[in-house]
Amino acid sequence: MRNVNEPSFRESVDLMFSRAVALMDLPPGLEEKIRVCNATYTVRFGVRLRGEIKTFTGYRSVHSEHMEPVKGGIRFSMGVNQDEVEALAALMTYKCALVEAPFGGSKGGLCIDPRQYDEHEMELITRRFAYELIKRDLIHPSQNVPAPDMGTGEREMAWIADQYARMNTTDINSRACVTGKPLNAGGIAGRVEATGRGVQYALQEFFRDPTDMKQAGLTGSLDGKRVIVQGLGNVGYHAAKFLSEEDGAKVIGIIEYDGGLYDANGLDVEAVRQWIGQHGGVTGYPDATYSKDGSPLLEAECDILVPAALEGVINLSNAARIQAPLIIEAANGPVTAGADEILRDKGTVIIPDMYANAGGVTVSYFEWVKNLSHIRFGRMQRRQEEARHQLVINELQQLENVMEGQWKMSPDFRQKYLRGAGELELVRSGLDDTMRIAYQSMREVWHSRDDVTDLRTAAYLVSIGKVAASYRAKGL
Ligand code: GLU
Repeated sequence: MRNVNEPSFRESVDLMFSRAVALMDLPPGLEEKIRVCNATYTVRFGVRLRGEIKTFTGYRSVHSEHMEPVKGGIRFSMGVNQDEVEALAALMTYKCALVEAPFGGSKGGLCIDPRQYDEHEMELITRRFAYELIKRDLIHPSQNVPAPDMGTGEREMAWIADQYARMNTTDINSRACVTGKPLNAGGIAGRVEATGRGVQYALQEFFRDPTDMKQAGLTGSLDGKRVIVQGLGNVGYHAAKFLSEEDGAKVIGIIEYDGGLYDANGLDVEAVRQWIGQHGGVTGYPDATYSKDGSPLLEAECDILVPAALEGVINLSNAARIQAPLIIEAANGPVTAGADEILRDKGTVIIPDMYANAGGVTVSYFEWVKNLSHIRFGRMQRRQEEARHQLVINELQQLENVMEGQWKMSPDFRQKYLRGAGELELVRSGLDDTMRIAYQSMREVWHSRDDVTDLRTAAYLVSIGKVAASYRAKGL
């Protein structure tokens, strides 16, 4: 249970912001200008459903317009409220700045339980919400570009894009009004997996550095590391899948809303995901130890804890008992400000949300650029690249002949080297590069300043510094 003395999500974000800003030398007033949310639009609209008019409440909050368009997901959940969207919009500002995605921060939400409505009803509701936002330029390719978040995905983004196109029939850039669309509606390869992939790249970068590993009391590589994931939604699933299938990590615990699964030898992530798809939850999954209350698993012994669902799951009530030496915040705001302090004192290393889950918005950025350039990445250069690689292969082939068995190309070199990069490879390469560079920027601050003892403060320092520089450049 969350402690009643704990600040709200937005206050928590503000507290973390203030902690960092106290270490900076900003011109008077600029701190306040950056911290506050510029505007939050609340919309209440009615949709005729099942013979009656049902009224819904939605929000779109714009935190900072130091760069435009502003960017951030739209969430469909019963937990949506103004405080939450404002906190999430603020995190988007810092996230975009940190990974150098040229956007201000925004977030939207609709207070709804999507499971209560069928597909046709969801389309009516989504289109109506989109209509309200589009007519106020709160969805617009150059003003405000939403994306998926909790409870939304490609399907909702396709409806929003179509709604925008219907209302702006001559806008050649209409597809850039929203990201996270399906591939056939102007989406980009690799967007669905992007946030989970970003979590993987973030951990890979962390494990490249022995000094950083040492801070968490860890050694070696990701191979064999015990991971507990909270929330096997889009982000948690992809992170767990990639870490276990590609990096050799062992996912020993999975926590879902209806319970937790544990297997010290490692769970089959794909099998659990399929079980959830068929049965609606983890209950009854046969190949693991099941417990009805999954939350104690957050406190179980492991190397890496990946909270990938709701905000505030690590709070004053459980922070002291968390055993993981390394937490990577795949969700937004999973650790409250109070818990953050307890964990910091314990020496737990936290890779903060604004960095750890920035893979989504990074690939959204690539999608937006693709939409504005009206061409798929790799379309121009792929075959040319392959032709040039063929030249090298031909030379090596000659060498192989001359060496007569004394030297040979490695078996899969030819095939791997010949393959020119398609859109998916380019997206992954751009994401990997982004995650590495952003990590290094935080890391440098973390290690070079005595007054910065954690990655979150370092992340805030880097991103606030960038936002402040933008404001200065605007003459503010
Ligand atoms: N909803 C995601 C986030 O919180 C993605 C935002 C985007 O792609 O614009 O970062």
